[in-house]
Amino acid sequence: MTPYTGRFAPSPTGPLHFGSLVSALASFLDARAAQGQWLVRIEDLDPPREDPAASDAILRILDVYGLHWDGSVVYQSQRSELYQAALEQLIATGAAFPCTCSRSQLGGHLHLGRCQPDPEQDCAYRFLCPDTHLTLHDGLQPDHSYDCQRSIGDFVIRRRDHLWSYQLAVVVDDAAQGITHVVRGIDLIDSTARQHLLQQALGLPHPHYSHLPVAVERNGQKLSKQNLSLAVSGEDVTATLFTALQWLRQSPPDALASAGRDEILQWAVTHWQPARLSGLSGQPAPSAFMRPS
Ligand code: GLU
Repeated sequence: MTPYTGRFAPSPTGPLHFGSLVSALASFLDARAAQGQWLVRIEDLDPPREDPAASDAILRILDVYGLHWDGSVVYQSQRSELYQAALEQLIATGAAFPCTCSRSQLGGHLHLGRCQPDPEQDCAYRFLCPDTHLTLHDGLQPDHSYDCQRSIGDFVIRRRDHLWSYQLAVVVDDAAQGITHVVRGIDLIDSTARQHLLQQALGLPHPHYSHLPVAVERNGQKLSKQNLSLAVSGEDVTATLFTALQWLRQSPPDALASAGRDEILQWAVTHWQPARLSGLSGQPAPSAFMRPS
């Protein structure tokens, strides 16, 4: 079997909701079914959007659900030097450039090509989008294609306020941690193209990606911290795991509903069939995990 290293990489903007729990569970099962490693990385890059208690709360819930990770948890807030080195590499090869263009200056258009930064202002750094077409394969979704300069443009990799962008940090860390397989929500599928371009420019390997359907609220919005979706509690762990497996279309047998946590997880690892989620982009969360109407 080829070596497998997967990961769950939550941003600590709030507690886990059902959508993030099923992402964590699916990436855990995919890794364990391949006898692989499963890592947890806290993506705490944006302090103004974070809740100081969220990292610990997320880790506690993963633990209570038996989703035990390998090695120590990595915190992106402690890895600036790695991101700085990647930025310098991109600048040195002409793949990144300073920019002070504001959103209003861009007027809704994509940024394309180097610009003249205003020397009086703090600058952001953008990745110089190559004129290329990409077709990306996915473990669960159909191939997706991009005409990069028409749909992506030069994107920010370090913000003007000196915060690192998700795109740069995730690429650097996936490579540094030896991630071979990424299983995450389909809401991030367009980020894969940006990450692919950065991996190419930095000479890094491309992991294998599988994008899961997202869980949606009654009104069709994806469950998210911004949409005030309900937090998953540490009670009723076995019932919630069983429901999560049903949501992931794994058809757990009725008898498993009365089993213990580790027995449920073991069954799920042994019977993991991700192809049952192929082509699905979203499905309603179980009603107990939706916001009350
Ligand atoms: N930190 C991202 C989030 O919570 C996920 C990153 C990823 O899985 O690539 O939405």
